Amino acid sequence: MKNVVLLGSTGSIGTSTVKVAEDLPDQIRLIGLAAGNNSELLLEQTRRHRPAVVSIADPAKARELHNTLGTAVQVYSGSEGLLKLATLPEADIVLIAIVGTAGLQPALAAIRAGKDIAVASKEILVMAGETVMSEARKHGVRVLAVDSEHSAIFQCLDGKPTASVRKLLLTASGGPFRSKTDWPKEKFSEITVERALKHPSWVMGRKITIDSATLFNKGLEMIEARWLFAIEMARVVVVVHPQSIVHSMVEFVDGSLIAQLSTPDMCLPIQYALTYPERAASGRVQTNFPKIGTLTFEEPDTERFPAIELARRAGEIGGTLPAVLNAANEIAVEAFVNHKINFPQITEVVRRTMDAHKTVAHPTLDQILEADAWARREAGR
Ligand code: NDP
Repeated sequence: MKNVVLLGSTGSIGTSTVKVAEDLPDQIRLIGLAAGNNSELLLEQTRRHRPAVVSIADPAKARELHNTLGTAVQVYSGSEGLLKLATLPEADIVLIAIVGTAGLQPALAAIRAGKDIAVASKEILVMAGETVMSEARKHGVRVLAVDSEHSAIFQCLDGKPTASVRKLLLTASGGPFRSKTDWPKEKFSEITVERALKHPSWVMGRKITIDSATLFNKGLEMIEARWLFAIEMARVVVVVHPQSIVHSMVEFVDGSLIAQLSTPDMCLPIQYALTYPERAASGRVQTNFPKIGTLTFEEPDTERFPAIELARRAGEIGGTLPAVLNAANEIAVEAFVNHKINFPQITEVVRRTMDAHKTVAHPTLDQILEADAWARREAGR
């Protein structure tokens, strides 16, 4: 039985994690749940799973929850609550699925408390990959990937050293605007928020859905892969694969390629991270090849989707630049969703903010957080 703390239990990854826990009641126990705003769903999850501790961002909502739940459950709030949950003595693993940067400090706290972490929030490794991975090595804990692409690569590598790898091939669906015929670059300024929120293969939170449309999601994943697998950016490449069946591949030095495949369902990589190194039996994901029929692959169009090259540059230069890319992108996505800028301006805001930044090499956590705050102001301006 694994005792799991789930940060971001009410989101897309969070609710899939709850499903996985319900599929495997003898193997996974949810002992801590944290949410941002959605106290109704948190309450329902708490009643069903009876975690010892819960947390919600707003202190007023925490008081309401405490009044409803009584003394059987400890209720915390804000960033203090996230830290409390991340370091619960009974926890074996902390799964972090909070959108944005709020997951970084709890991730580091969990590592320092000797917990394995399962990372969905890509911001954590994009901003502070060097620090997170070196702290994990120091404390002898695992950083397990929840992102389907990184879970695939981890499964394909199967413990082989980076020296045996020629390339990591991250697959990308290409998003809703992949077709050059339907969506030539000139039409990008007409893309509406509603259209950008319709992803062809995955149902996800709003921020990551927009990131999938600009391909910043893939860019963030390239940087994430660089740190998770200790490999230089030049050996991380993107292949567009619209069917989203091959979740990613590893090309080894002998030319052999190993891929991990399944119908797209985030429950699978979540379950793998939570049950690793075991594989637990589950009927949830079934893949029918004759029904799928065809798998296709193509080069990403970096002219229409410059996010890939911006991320490559951020990952190659490193230091505080990936944190700047991430923060500027968050501000730009927010502005797009609020109809303040158009779709191509998301990438433009990120590019200009990166151009204006003076990168600090091997930054401390404070310098990363400073760069993050600077980039938010600069991108907002
Ligand atoms: P959602 O927007 O669906 O969910 C975000 C979650 O974070 C919600 O539970 C939200 O709570 C919670 N949250 C936000 N702020 C706080 C806070 N300050 N304290 C506690 N909880 C907070 O996002 P997703 O589930 O789609 O994505 C989560 C992360 O996982 C992102 O970093 C994303 O990039 C990554 N990811 C997502 C994938 C997917 O398929 N969705 C795939 C791979 C990675 P509430 O709803 O109560 O406000």
